[in-house]
Amino acid sequence: MRFKGSTIFVTGGAGFIGSAVVRHLLRDTHARVVNIDKLTYAANLASLPGSSESLNYTFEKACICEGQVLRRLFEKYQPDAVMNLAAESHVDRSIDGPGEFIQTNIVGTFTILQETLRHWRALSPEKRDAFRFLHISTDEVFGSLGDEGLFTETTAYAPNSPYSASKASSDHLVRAWRETYDLPTLVTNCSNNYGPYHFPEKLIPHMIIKGLAGEPLPVYGDGQNVRDWLFVEDHAKALTLVLERGEVGETYNVGGRNERTNLHVVESICDLLDDVAPAAAGPRRQLINFVADRPGHDRRYAIDATKLETELGWRAEENFETGIAKTVRWYVDEQPWWRAILERGYKVERVGLNQ
Ligand code: NAD
Repeated sequence: MRFKGSTIFVTGGAGFIGSAVVRHLLRDTHARVVNIDKLTYAANLASLPGSSESLNYTFEKACICEGQVLRRLFEKYQPDAVMNLAAESHVDRSIDGPGEFIQTNIVGTFTILQETLRHWRALSPEKRDAFRFLHISTDEVFGSLGDEGLFTETTAYAPNSPYSASKASSDHLVRAWRETYDLPTLVTNCSNNYGPYHFPEKLIPHMIIKGLAGEPLPVYGDGQNVRDWLFVEDHAKALTLVLERGEVGETYNVGGRNERTNLHVVESICDLLDDVAPAAAGPRRQLINFVADRPGHDRRYAIDATKLETELGWRAEENFETGIAKTVRWYVDEQPWWRAILERGYKVERVGLNQ
């Protein structure tokens, strides 16, 4: 699809990845962006331009589970593409309360598929050909890896948490709407993201904020769980590329080839903080403490992004070392952004130990 003159719906555009996608589209394309977000606890309009700051940007507060509301938005804006990022995204919350995950991730995806299909069928043949529905998903749908191997696009689904099971369901719905109704869909499955504007409950921002405050740094189990880390701006670029040039009906794995143990991630944060904001109490590694593991905690995720790299020419620009240094610097410099969230308060029983 061509971005110039196009209108793109970004659902969940006030979240961590969605806001990076909105910022990227506004900065690097000429598309008009309509951000549709319910504004849950995880949303933050401070990560985005105001509607008055960009003529190409509009915010609509709406829930993807509400068909009538979505229908009015489709009629009003006549989008050329939908990027579906709206989701409940925190694994620990899905263990404590899976209901919202079933609602937004499964019922919400079903509802927006139905309304997209209705809109798509009413388009002219030319617009119908160009239309795209891109569903953003996670590598957690594939379950856990042993010490060897990588997830590819053909790896069988084996989700282990309520979060990953709800995302797996949504991926299957998207596939079925392609196979059954011909809706031009694409799916991406991405590894763990990190970077600026990440909500404080997630592993990396949580450890940076605790480390800055000199508080204990709780690491699940033995800290040897492995995640494949991707800088969020690299993800936003990958999604734009898949929307523009990806083949309809295909899925693409997105990953940074940056496998690190959780303990390595936390130690890197400690060392970077010691450099930019030395603590009187001494090196921050001594704040690390190991706590009881999360139930159903997948041991290792790692993505093979060869298809995206060879077919669409995407490459992650940041490796873990450059990306984490930028991220730590951002949290040190942009304290008003995250302090405002802490002051609002947010509630979760098991918080921030992992994604
Ligand atoms: P996030 O939790 O930061 O943001 C989710 C956004 O969706 C929030 O702004 C929230 O208000 C909105 N939302 C929630 N329910 C909604 C509803 N019913 N209607 C409309 N808006 C709603 O999540 P994120 O980390 O930005 O993840 C975005 C997407 O990417 C999710 O689908 C997630 O599964 C996927 N993903 C995330 C990661 C990661 O590391 N964060 C990795 C791979 C895939």
